[in-house]
Amino acid sequence: MFTFHGGIHPYDGKDISKDKPIVDYKPKGLLVYPLSQHIGAPCEPVVEIGEHVLVGQLIAKDTGFVSSPIYSSVSGTVKAIEPRRVITGDHVKAIVIENDGLYEEVEFTPNPDYTKLSREEIVSLIQKAGIVGMGGAGFPTHVKVSPKEPDKIEYIIANCAECEPYLTSDYRIMIETPEKLVEGLRIELSLFNNARGILAIEDNKPDCIKILKELTKNDDKITVIPLKTKYPQGSERHLIFATTKRAINSSMLPSDAGCIVNNVDTICSIYSAVVEGRPLLHRIVTVTGDCIKNPQNFRVHIGTNYHELIDEAGGFTKTPEKIISGGPMMGFAIFDLDVPATKTSSALLCLSKDQISAATETACINCGRCVEVCPGRVIPSKLADFAQNGDREQFEKFNGMECCECGCCSYICPAKRFLTQSIKSMRRMILADRKKGGKK
Ligand code: SF4
Ligand code: SF4
Repeated sequence: MFTFHGGIHPYDGKDISKDKPIVDYKPKGLLVYPLSQHIGAPCEPVVEIGEHVLVGQLIAKDTGFVSSPIYSSVSGTVKAIEPRRVITGDHVKAIVIENDGLYEEVEFTPNPDYTKLSREEIVSLIQKAGIVGMGGAGFPTHVKVSPKEPDKIEYIIANCAECEPYLTSDYRIMIETPEKLVEGLRIELSLFNNARGILAIEDNKPDCIKILKELTKNDDKITVIPLKTKYPQGSERHLIFATTKRAINSSMLPSDAGCIVNNVDTICSIYSAVVEGRPLLHRIVTVTGDCIKNPQNFRVHIGTNYHELIDEAGGFTKTPEKIISGGPMMGFAIFDLDVPATKTSSALLCLSKDQISAATETACINCGRCVEVCPGRVIPSKLADFAQNGDREQFEKFNGMECCECGCCSYICPAKRFLTQSIKSMRRMILADRKKGGKK
């Protein structure tokens, strides 16, 4: 079975929402569009307060190659351009639009036969549509599909693993609109002369494997690869290793190993951008957890307030101790629901118990379990010590930057040490310093 070193098998919680079909949610209140919903330069507004906008109208333009434009997902009036809180807790400049409830659209230009388009035209459509990595990374997709040496790309990997517990948005897409996923992958493949497509999917989704195998049975360029169900199977680095046996480290890009990896919703958005001519306006969000009355998978207009999604899912059955945007392993704990869904919001998870803050950290007993599960092949116990002591030199010497922040070490540690949290803080500090252009 295709897999990688280490990993864990946490409770997956997917039964709560996996059989709930995607519901199209129409937002009621104000829509908020942060100008930075991606990795790279923030956007610049191209609308003014008081201006009337339509669904699909450009409201903020990209400001560089590594940037991504933003479109209004509703029709209505621009009410403000001001800092608004986002899921990280930061305040980010945002465009606020009052929804008129009419959903009047701009005219989209479809391309039913994308094979007539040149490579440059397809990449431009992806760029103009504002597509970014919707699995959480937010890296602009047009940059990903524009490697320096396109002929060296041998694999386009559709990341269908959805290994994060509780998340079922990708699962629902694969069940409900698998044709879009496969066609989106074919569009990506048309950009590269030597690439083959892989639909990489964990073996806990046999129904999806069957559907995708059936859809691609006559396509000799696409293979469906079932993967061992194990967290973090969907992490880019480990997915590449599991499917191609090619290893990359933190200083390499997937394209250095001849691979490009995209998430399910991202690939479907490529299809919408190229074939339907529609920019990125929606995404699928799972609203779930033991505190939610009616867990759901919603098709959400980007900019929708999280409060509305909770209400639409029936509200809380009990007060949650923890609310997470994303999955429990790599998501962001949030303290304020008055934040918008963005291009990278995959889930809203409401849990009655906060297992992290309830835990009491004790001394390491040198059991070695953190080392056994670490997919980054580092020594989490040591790295956490270096991080807590501020010893950056030893942290880097012991390959601390190879940590992918998956959380497996913290999950398994019987002493409940805050391993991932410490390692993550040190990594963030080093990355910030490197970005500034020098070591400190
Ligand atoms: S050290 Fe990093 S990569 Fe290794 S288990 Fe911990 S969080 Fe995951
Ligand atoms: S799992 Fe926890 S207790 Fe065991 S070696 Fe690692 S840090 Fe120490």
